[in-house]
Amino acid sequence: MQVDKDLCIGCGRCVLYCPVQAISMSDDGRHAVIDQDECVECGACRRSPACKTGALYQPELTYPRIVRSILSDPLTIAPESGITGRGTEEMKTNDVTARFKRGYAGVAVEVGRPLLGARLKDVEKIAMAVARFGVEFEKINPTTSLMADPKTGKFKDELLGEKVLSAIIEFAVPLSKLEAVLYTLERVSHEVESVFSVDVCSRCNPDGSIPHEEILAKGNWWYSINAKTNVGLGRPLAQE
Ligand code: SF4
Ligand code: SF4
Repeated sequence: MQVDKDLCIGCGRCVLYCPVQAISMSDDGRHAVIDQDECVECGACRRSPACKTGALYQPELTYPRIVRSILSDPLTIAPESGITGRGTEEMKTNDVTARFKRGYAGVAVEVGRPLLGARLKDVEKIAMAVARFGVEFEKINPTTSLMADPKTGKFKDELLGEKVLSAIIEFAVPLSKLEAVLYTLERVSHEVESVFSVDVCSRCNPDGSIPHEEILAKGNWWYSINAKTNVGLGRPLAQE
């Protein structure tokens, strides 16, 4: 995002709308300044009612900077999935798509939050840590498309300095390896300059029990159970 200094009247109203505090006022207070290294291209400032003069404008984004917008602007469509909002719906739709079959867990690591955001070098660090367990990264996910090698979780070098509001790493792992993956995520959480939460999804057993619940309890991780129930509106596309 950029500021047209000729149109900006220095009112400062846009400053509070930035979720990563990338906007400040110039030393003389005459116009807003956007720190281009911190701006995640979320579009919030321009879409807000803050600017009455049209001083905020969005230049055309090219690669690699456009990745910021794909992962930060809820209105930008991710080319990999064709959907908006970080471009992934896989875990929410597993009852229909059945990518995470019995014996497996689907794991999503949601890196970055407002105020902090996340550098892709940190997202790569997390992806590479779990890749050692042979996890299968979700193909229809914009974060996976940033990888130079989905086997190792290594990202394309030119992307490592890019900053985004948040990114979701998504993968399937056999339940037998889930505990080790979660301990690894706990360790790597101390090595990144951002925060993340972890979602774990598995298909309920016929008796209603949750296959991965015992693993979470054993590791003493705090968790909250959410469920998605297929009431017949989505027809399963994949059989086990
Ligand atoms: S586009 Fe988003 S991150 Fe960039 S200055 Fe505007 S509100 Fe801040
Ligand atoms: S809201 Fe618009 S006019 Fe006011 S400081 Fe921000 S860019 Fe300038």
